[in-house]
Amino acid sequence: MSCMRGWWLTCGMILGLFAQTSGPAGQTPPTASPKLPALSRHPVVALTFDDLPAGGGLHPGYTRTGIATQLTSELRAAHLKGVYGFMNGDGVADDPDMQQALRVWIAAGMNIGNHTFSHPALSSETAAEFEQNIAMNEPLLRQYAGNRDWHWFRFPYLEEGATLQQRDEVRNWLQSHGYRIAEVTLNFNDDDWDDPYGRCLVKHDEAGVAWLKQSYLQNAEEFIRLGRETEQLAFGHEIPGVLLLHETSFTTLMLPSLLQLLRGEGFRFASLPKVERNPAYSLNPNIGLPNGDSFPDEFLDVRRTAYPYFEPEPVQKLDSICR
Ligand SMILES: [Zn+2]
Repeated sequence: MSCMRGWWLTCGMILGLFAQTSGPAGQTPPTASPKLPALSRHPVVALTFDDLPAGGGLHPGYTRTGIATQLTSELRAAHLKGVYGFMNGDGVADDPDMQQALRVWIAAGMNIGNHTFSHPALSSETAAEFEQNIAMNEPLLRQYAGNRDWHWFRFPYLEEGATLQQRDEVRNWLQSHGYRIAEVTLNFNDDDWDDPYGRCLVKHDEAGVAWLKQSYLQNAEEFIRLGRETEQLAFGHEIPGVLLLHETSFTTLMLPSLLQLLRGEGFRFASLPKVERNPAYSLNPNIGLPNGDSFPDEFLDVRRTAYPYFEPEPVQKLDSICR
């Protein structure tokens, strides 16, 4: 697409003929894709994992330490080190399994960042309450990260502020406390597969697990493509991306297949700090949003630009399977 400055007005109007403004959160796909440039043959992505050390339920046969051990060995087998895991400290002090899971993550050469102490939604807190929750997490980060840089922050539910005032207040607090924001450009709600996986395990439903594996990869492929096209719409071109994953048992099970999928699409891997050196990450859409959204989605929201076509996540089947 050749239109750049002001393109969201002109191209947005053209795109409006083919697509609608309901985003991935709304799960309402438009009827046809807008014309976009071909995707890059060698996109770059940083993997990130949220909700350490206790992402998702603890299913039969699993421990937090076991999940962290398997996940870090998969990352190392793929020559990935320094991957950021975003930690919630709630419950860690009383749980030796969670403590060991954090030690395993760090000992494997991975990093931790702040994801608040108890994972509140910013839209249901005041800025001051939210900032206090971030600060409450710092003693544990200091304890486990040692001399590594833990001053990266991931907003729970990707909620960056329900109003512009709240957004600015929290951003100013983060900046004055030395944090960088770990934005997300690629997100396929990987954690939505974990509860169904637990149910299928309990029922020994192998056909159910097989469907979960197939649909997880299909959804990943679709939403990663959508995220990259959304980057094109938001910034005029793809940018080095940040993929949101969660430290759940199902994503741990699926990671080797997911890495294979990414490699098959030409992806190269880079660290979060390196990816966020791209100038796009210094842009600010200056928008208050009641719900969480990815970084490029925020730019489309503020401009009311149409989203590209996407096949929605199979939420109904995820909810009903193995009941
Ligand atoms: Zn989270």
